[in-house]
Amino acid sequence: MIRHRSSVVVVLSGPGGAGKGTIARALVERDEGLVLSRSWTTRPRRMDDSADAYVFVDRAAFEARRSDGGFVEWNEFLGFMYGTPTPDPDEGRNLLLEIDVAGGRQVRDRLPGALFLFVDAPDDGELRRRLLGRGDDAERADARVDEAARERLEADELGYRWVVNDNLEATVELVAGLIHDHRASQD
Ligand code: 5GP
Repeated sequence: MIRHRSSVVVVLSGPGGAGKGTIARALVERDEGLVLSRSWTTRPRRMDDSADAYVFVDRAAFEARRSDGGFVEWNEFLGFMYGTPTPDPDEGRNLLLEIDVAGGRQVRDRLPGALFLFVDAPDDGELRRRLLGRGDDAERADARVDEAARERLEADELGYRWVVNDNLEATVELVAGLIHDHRASQD
C-alpha cells in the first residue's frame, strides 16, 4: 500500500529521549525527497512538542479512525495510543516513520524491504537525564528507561540496525548515509 517504485520506507525506532525526533527532523530538512509521516496520538501535548509533532486527538477519534482501517500500524505505548495514518498515494517519495518497535514489527510484516534503524542513547543514565531535561517527571522517565530495555530486546530480534546517538551531527550523517545506501540497493 505504501510501496511505490523507487521509494523506500525508513522506520526509525528507539527509546524516547534517544534523539530520534531531532534526527528525523534534520533528515527531512536536508533531503526533500524524504517525508516524515505525522502520527496520531491520544497523548497530551508535551512542552517540547512542536504544534505539528502529532495530530493530537482523543481516544474516540483515534478508535474511529482505527475501525475505518485508517492506520498502517498503531500501538498503545505507556497508556496512550499512537498510529501512522495511511499515507496518500504520494509521488514516489520516501517515507520516514518515527514509531516504536511494536509498530516496526507491523511494518516489517507488511513491508519487509523497509530500512529499520534503532536510535539509542549511549547509556541509561544519559537517557534518563535527557528525559527529565525535556519535561518527563521522574516516574515517567523511569517507566521509559524500563520500556527501553524491553524495546532493545525486541529490536534485536527484529533485526534492526543499531545507531548510538552520542553526537547529533555525526549521527545524522550516519543515518543519511544508511538511507542513501538503502535507496541505492532498491533501485
Ligand atoms: P512520545 O510520547 O515520546 O512522543 O512517543 C512514545 C513512543 O511512541 C516513541 O517510541 C515513538 O517513536 C512512538 N510513536 C510515535 N508515533 C508512533 C506511531 O505512529 N506508531 C507507533 N507504533 N509508535 C509511535
